[in-house]
Amino acid sequence: MVTGWHRPTWIEVDCAAIRENIQNEQKRLPENVAVWAVVKANAYGHGIIEVAKTAKEAGAKGFCVAILDEALALREAGFKDDFILVLGATRKEDVNLAARNDISLTIFREDWLAGVDPELPLKVHLKIDSGMGRLGIREAEEAARMEAEITQNTNLILEGVYTHFATADQLETSYFEQQLAKFHSILSGLKARPTYVHTANSAASLLQSQVGFDAIRFGISMYGLTPSIEVKTSLPFKLKPALALYTEIVHVKELSPGDSVSYGATYTATEKEWVATLPIGYADGLIRHYSGFQVLLAGKKVPIIGRVCMDQIIIKLPYKFQTGTKVTIIGTDQEKTVTADDAAEYLDTINYEVTCMLTERIPRKYIN
Ligand SMILES: *Cc1c(COP(=O)(O)O)cnc(C)c1O
Repeated sequence: MVTGWHRPTWIEVDCAAIRENIQNEQKRLPENVAVWAVVKANAYGHGIIEVAKTAKEAGAKGFCVAILDEALALREAGFKDDFILVLGATRKEDVNLAARNDISLTIFREDWLAGVDPELPLKVHLKIDSGMGRLGIREAEEAARMEAEITQNTNLILEGVYTHFATADQLETSYFEQQLAKFHSILSGLKARPTYVHTANSAASLLQSQVGFDAIRFGISMYGLTPSIEVKTSLPFKLKPALALYTEIVHVKELSPGDSVSYGATYTATEKEWVATLPIGYADGLIRHYSGFQVLLAGKKVPIIGRVCMDQIIIKLPYKFQTGTKVTIIGTDQEKTVTADDAAEYLDTINYEVTCMLTERIPRKYIN
């Protein structure tokens, strides 16, 4: 995708915030528990390479990604010896590609192992489905059989075993406890404990101290965002959001009563009013549901009026402003802040989706 370096719309990523979130979490963990930075999906929209560098500086001992291509992108960017685990499914035909690049893969099906014989040592993590119902082995016998098969193949190394919680971001913990018990029971059926047993995402690592095992998979909260609104006030330290989204006014005009703006002419002025056009739209991830959302201008909230276009939106102004004035869509302006959680609530979604949606057309600028 083409990135708009010549348009005054940008994402600012505060690297110090990412480092602080990692270090605050690392301090709470026993020393031998590694923090793995989850940088899938372009680091939740923050930019995979810069975030990976920042996380490593802060002490992260490895990376988790969703797909093999993301792992390869890290290797190509110079993360030559770092631990990288692909959390999603990888095609059998790509085992040599993974092995050559020393990328650890997740495996979760006995039939996947049939005929797999990588030309170089390949590290694998056995995924246990303890209740997420997505990927994973559900029976202790199958896990044990797979362990035996892996052990027999000289080029397969059982490096890890793990699971993923479905409800770790909820205050009610009975389902979480059920999952943990199931994981323990499958784990105890294995002959040997691999190097890395891991279960915790951000929510579990922040709220459930018993699930650190050997590493945590730290995603959303590395970016300074809460795993859910429900647990926001129960978190052990203050998370620092890393991402801000800014644009600038490119056009200002005064509407007369009866004048409308944008597609469908859904917004019509009832009195004389000033409005401004901003160069950002749904092609940047500012989806049409943002219509009516309040952004910050000179420390005050102002609404997006009319429909969101592909590349532009229109905001209502309290009075005349100059073109070039900065507008904060997510972030802080003077005393006021609009958070990814505010946007998520407005859009009826979660903060994860808000940042992931921001497309690569918006340049990412890294500070601190
Ligand atoms: C995305 C993902 C994580 C990270 O979750 P957060 O809630 O962002 O911390 C951890 N584990 C798995 C398996 C994932 O897919």
